[in-house]
Amino acid sequence: MAPSLGERLQSVTVEIADAAREAARDPASITTIVVTKFHPASLVRELAALGVSDFGENRHQEAQPKALELADLGLTWHFVGQLQSKKARQVAEYAAVVHSVDRDALVDVLAGSPLEVFLQVNLTDDPARGGVVPEHLEALAERVVATGALRLRGIMAVAPLGREPRAAFAAVRGLSERLVRIVPEASSLSMGMSGDFREAILEGATHLRIGTAITGNRPDHG
Ligand SMILES: *Cc1c(COP(=O)(O)O)cnc(C)c1O
Repeated sequence: MAPSLGERLQSVTVEIADAAREAARDPASITTIVVTKFHPASLVRELAALGVSDFGENRHQEAQPKALELADLGLTWHFVGQLQSKKARQVAEYAAVVHSVDRDALVDVLAGSPLEVFLQVNLTDDPARGGVVPEHLEALAERVVATGALRLRGIMAVAPLGREPRAAFAAVRGLSERLVRIVPEASSLSMGMSGDFREAILEGATHLRIGTAITGNRPDHG
C-alpha cells in the first residue's frame, strides 16, 4: 500500500532530524514549509490536523482563495514563487513571509507591509529563473532595510538543475556571510526541496520548502 500523508510527513521529519544530527544542528532550528501548490485546501487542512503550521504556495491566483478558505486555522503562509509587482500588495494581505523578493520594484510595492522577506538569489545565468544576481544582493538588502517595515530574514535559493546541490547551497552560504556583514539578523537560509533537503541542511538551511516528498505527486495541472 502507498504510504499515507501522515506516513510521508513522518518519514520526511525523521530524515530532517537525521540530517540535522549529521550536521550537529538542532532540528528545532529548521522550519519545514510544506508546499501545497496544485493541491486542494482539503489537503492543507489534513496537514494542519497533523500539526503542520507553515505552508508554501507559488501562485497568487491559487494561494489567495486557499488562504481565505482556511483563515480559521491560523496558518502561516509563505509565498515562494515569482511575484509580479502588481500582485504583490494582495499577496501581502495573507502571506506572512515572501521568499521571492528579487528586485527594487517589488520591495517598493511591499514596503508598507509588516512582512518577513527573503531575497531570492539566482544561481543560474538565466534571468527567467527569477532571483537577484549575486552582485546586487547587498544593494537590494539595503533597500529592504530602508523601508523600515519589512523584516529581512535572509536568502532564498533553488539549486540549479544539473549542478551538484551541495555545491550550490555552499555558494548560498557564502553569499549569506556577505549579507550578515551588513544586516546581522538576516542569517536565515531558505533552501532545500524534496530532492535536496539533506544537502541543504548540511549547508545550513533554516527553512526547507518541501512539496511532493510530503504531499505526494501533484494533481495533473496540464
Ligand atoms: C514547488 C516548489 C517547491 C517544492 O518542490 P518539491 O520538489 O515538490 O519539494 C519548493 N520551492 C519552490 C519555489 C517551489 O515552487
